[in-house]
Amino acid sequence: MKAAHPDALPIAGGTDVMVEINFDRHRPSAFLDLTRVAELTEWGPQDGMLRVGAGVTYTRLIGELGDRIPGLAMASRTVGSPQIRNRGTVGGNLGSASPAGDAHPALLASRAIVELASVGGTRRVPAHEFFLGPKRNAMRSDELIAAFLIEPAQGPQQFSKVGTRNAMVIAVCSFGLAIEPERRRVGTGIGSAAPTPVMAPEAESFIESVLGEGDLWEKRMPVPQSALVRFGELVAAAARPIDDVRGTAAYRRRALAVMARRSFAWAWNEYMRAA
Ligand SMILES: Cc1cc2nc3c(=O)[nH]c(=O)nc-3n(C[C@H](O)[C@H](O)[C@H](O)COP(=O)(O)OP(=O)(O)OC[C@H]3O[C@@H](n4cnc5c(N)ncnc54)[C@H](O)[C@@H]3O)c2cc1C
Repeated sequence: MKAAHPDALPIAGGTDVMVEINFDRHRPSAFLDLTRVAELTEWGPQDGMLRVGAGVTYTRLIGELGDRIPGLAMASRTVGSPQIRNRGTVGGNLGSASPAGDAHPALLASRAIVELASVGGTRRVPAHEFFLGPKRNAMRSDELIAAFLIEPAQGPQQFSKVGTRNAMVIAVCSFGLAIEPERRRVGTGIGSAAPTPVMAPEAESFIESVLGEGDLWEKRMPVPQSALVRFGELVAAAARPIDDVRGTAAYRRRALAVMARRSFAWAWNEYMRAA
């Protein structure tokens, strides 16, 4: 149907689509109701990863997968309200591709992959290549998002979000973190502080080298405060924030540095305690 009607607007939970319609920002010629496609609501293991259908709601993700993908579950808990989480989906978050989408930093930190499907077949795009610009993504007009693939957590994960209040709020900025002790790797994701969600590769390599050189993975010893501060600074440096109604660029950088430092400390404490 999508190939035959490329202009038809897919609708999953409708929590973004209906806002656009109600504000008359969008008058699609037709809708494609994805809630009738049962396969999109399924999840299961695949090649050591979890393949989660694009139509799995935040509420289900938290309840059914929270123990396996805690970073994305933490992010999901901050989305809107119970009503929004009951309808909203990660597929819809990816479809909208807002720089402020809360699932994105967690997907980036876990190096998740987006599965796109069309009559021509299926292709998989790493999350960090999926976001092309504000509200622009790599999906072609004949494609749909079928699922995302994400590894079950290999270590502690965190998600932090700054908003003007605690619920029902678009992120001023946000940060996702995944620690992978076996691979000696640290993953990051930044939200709402650049034209797209982005990773902070320099911060990742910096903290990985601190952990490696001090043999801290083995020793499970605390990370020096100076290294945590530097990690935060490098995360902030990876952002390209703007001043807008929700916050200034300077505030976003400052908040990111603090969130990154704290998130890493929380995750590392969890790792040390698990010894
Ligand atoms: C009151 C309120 C609070 C909100 N709070 C937050 C928040 O805290 N954090 C946050 O990140 N978001 C928030 N949102 C935005 C929204 O809930 C999320 O972006 C949600 O993930 C959208 O999912 P959905 O299934 O409702 O998408 P829909 O509205 O159905 O679709 C969104 C977009 O994705 C496309 N799409 C959906 N599924 C597919 C698919 N399988 N393949 C291809 N394209 C697809 C649609 O065509 C559309 O362009 C909020 C919205 C509201 C109304």
